[in-house]
Amino acid sequence: MVVVMKPGFTPEQLQTAIRTMEEGGVKVMVSKGSETTILGAEGNAANVDQEKVSLLPGVERVMRVTEPYKKANRKYHPDDTVIDLDGGVTIGGNRLAVIAGPCSVENEEQIIGVAEAVKKSGAVALRGGAFKPRTSPYSFQGMGNNGIRLLQEAKAATGLPIVTEIMSTDNIEMFEMCVDVIQVGARNMQNFDLLKQLGKTSKPILLKRGMSSTIEEWLMSAEYIMAGGNSKVILCERGIRTFETFTRNTLDLSAVLAVKRLSHLPVVVDPSHACGKAWMVERMSMAAVAAGADGLIIEVHNDPKNALCDGAQSITPAQFDTLMGKLDTIASCVDRSL
Ligand code: PEP
Ligand code: MN
Repeated sequence: MVVVMKPGFTPEQLQTAIRTMEEGGVKVMVSKGSETTILGAEGNAANVDQEKVSLLPGVERVMRVTEPYKKANRKYHPDDTVIDLDGGVTIGGNRLAVIAGPCSVENEEQIIGVAEAVKKSGAVALRGGAFKPRTSPYSFQGMGNNGIRLLQEAKAATGLPIVTEIMSTDNIEMFEMCVDVIQVGARNMQNFDLLKQLGKTSKPILLKRGMSSTIEEWLMSAEYIMAGGNSKVILCERGIRTFETFTRNTLDLSAVLAVKRLSHLPVVVDPSHACGKAWMVERMSMAAVAAGADGLIIEVHNDPKNALCDGAQSITPAQFDTLMGKLDTIASCVDRSL
């Protein structure tokens, strides 16, 4: 249940509305937006006297919210959420943010070289996996703690905030200390224990869509993190599994529009994992920006042919630079609000 206050309501009217809702046994979330102030009921609103609330002075209207996600719901928070990654680098709002870097951190020269190159081309954050969720136990599993240390070196060299994937709750404390944005991969989107623990951290969480997840399941995973107390969730569409095998996944760009309408959280697109083919990355990135994505996360490798992971979908720093040169034109004619 959501209560929309009238423009010009008084503080007393706001308090009365909150108290009346609380009498029905719910907690009240107040969202002061640019145009409206909204009171969102947390918990079961069945015992809130809807008619009584709707007749209170200062109340414009009362809406039932049928969706199971509340904190992630745009009805509870009409304005776009803007998330600070680190020291003023933001995602969300009417500005495009591009995160780039290799699938995996491989060595110092590689990660620092790529970080410097993508920064020069306009990336606002560096990605790089240190703990890798690989299909085969015999494949490169990532550099682990040493990879995190190298990411920190790359940050020291470039100033770029670092984004990296967490796989286990065992690493939460270390990630909280050492990284700027914690990525939850597609395979862990419904690892509810992990999501609950991440809800207690202060770091932004980049939540990838599970490979077979519906939009509602994805938003419910965001809700898990937000219900735990961390409202800094960035959604990432990275393609879903369909009957098609030519591409690694099927990039669901309509989901970008859907989640932007349903939720106030920023949405970024990962064209690399969606397509699995480097030659598709540029045009799918442009399409994602045209669809209104708040940002992109792109795999860039200095030597894709010899990459230890996901070389086939990685573009070179030079290709990334060309792509970045084309995005501004598209971004400038798209209205990201819905
Ligand atoms: C990745 O970003 O390297 C990754 C493993 O992505 P996903 O979880 O989307 O497969
Ligand atoms: Mn990858």
